[in-house]
Amino acid sequence: MQSDEWLTAASCTVEGGDSFYADTQKAQDTARAACLGCPVLATCLLTAQDRERVAKERWGMAGGLTAQQRLGLMWEERVHGHRPDLDAARELLNPWWSNLLIQMRWKGRSFDDIVNRLDGVQANAATVRLALWWLGMPGTRVRPRQAGDPIGEAVRIAGLHEAEIQELRSLGASRNEVAAYLGVKLHIADRAVDRVTIADRAEVLEVAA
Ligand code: SF4
Repeated sequence: MQSDEWLTAASCTVEGGDSFYADTQKAQDTARAACLGCPVLATCLLTAQDRERVAKERWGMAGGLTAQQRLGLMWEERVHGHRPDLDAARELLNPWWSNLLIQMRWKGRSFDDIVNRLDGVQANAATVRLALWWLGMPGTRVRPRQAGDPIGEAVRIAGLHEAEIQELRSLGASRNEVAAYLGVKLHIADRAVDRVTIADRAEVLEVAA
């Protein structure tokens, strides 16, 4: 097969092309639904990821993920060293597993907790994250905020993910890449990065004093 021959079977070449490049929630939901019924979804996602690792630029929907979600997966791979298993992620879309995933997520369980509950499915955290995104859920690394959680979102993220933020920054991740990895809005990631950076500086000054 020619390297781009698979494109002839792509759903987006015949339906809803504009929605693949719009950034409204409605357009993304429409595009994602088309992707999930597309016969070349796996090839599309893997090809986009290969291209984007080199080109470092990404746009539009590909393989059922937005550009920002694909950026998050790339950093997931860099930080944790694992890639999603696309077949396993597909399996997690069936009603039994998807209900479990959604319930556990809203109860504030971590990706690792969810992975441990998936008896019979070979899934890592990246696979769970991909399945959640395909389901139209937030695939955030940050657990959903619980009722009565007393502190602000950026403070909470800085506390829970301090080591990951430090590692991301030491690997050269921009603030937007930190936001993509965590799966949160840029202004929240921005404040969390500031908080971690200020804490780091304070520690350095304390040691030097
Ligand atoms: S997976 Fe989505 S973006 Fe990729 S070829 Fe199919 S419809 Fe187009």
